[in-house]
Amino acid sequence: MTEKWPVPDTADVEANLSRVRERIAAACARYGRKEEDVTLLAVTKTVSAERINRAVSCGVTKIGENRVQEYLQKQPLLLPVEAHLIGHLQTNKVGQIVGKVAMIQSVDSLHLAAAIQKAAEKIGVRVDILAEVNVGGEESKSGVSPEEAEEFCNELSAFPALNLRGLMTVPPISDSEVKKRQYFSRMSQLFIDIQGKIRHNNTMNILSMGMSDDYVEAIAEGSTMVRIGSAIFGKRDYSHSVSVPKL
Ligand SMILES: *Cc1c(COP(=O)(O)O)cnc(C)c1O
Repeated sequence: MTEKWPVPDTADVEANLSRVRERIAAACARYGRKEEDVTLLAVTKTVSAERINRAVSCGVTKIGENRVQEYLQKQPLLLPVEAHLIGHLQTNKVGQIVGKVAMIQSVDSLHLAAAIQKAAEKIGVRVDILAEVNVGGEESKSGVSPEEAEEFCNELSAFPALNLRGLMTVPPISDSEVKKRQYFSRMSQLFIDIQGKIRHNNTMNILSMGMSDDYVEAIAEGSTMVRIGSAIFGKRDYSHSVSVPKL
């Protein structure tokens, strides 16, 4: 009898990824968007390195992680891939992540921006960031209000080591296509408005919005980066993720 190693089955990742790519392409065609203007960020929180690597070998070039510790533990096991931090970042973790990710999408306060500035200066790098906007004004979510967004962006863009590349949002969950599109439309207007008014010289060309349940609506309203997790990797298992999963 031959002993079988438990080979992790990752074929579902490849199939899911194809489906997501088809839906992105269909949404672009339907809403008059160019496919090259919509970047896919595969969201890999709680996902094992094997499953992430399957996605990378199927052409995923960018991943999003929520937690500093989890990303730093998995990173040495990953195929080369560009990582973005998309989860709330505490200032005491900033020193561990600056220089290790290509972008921090979840900048939600000047206090955090100042900490990133300091850490970036220390190692002599510039950091790409997005300003997080709480478009639905939800208590439970991070981000500045839409009303504060322009002033916040102007302040962020003045930090010499920060490169403000655009806006990120997680809108309220809704079953209504109309409501979803209203939030995304509001973000699009804000994005265009701020691009035209920004006082400092930053290249603001990323509007990061749309997740597994609403990326089609986000593309319809002008998203340039969709952050998709469960539609690619399946339902998340948080049971190991309070302490970082053993890999
Ligand atoms: C988890 C997460 C996503 C992806 O969510 P899915 O619904 O699984 O696609 C996107 N953005 C942020 C900020 C997240 O935390």
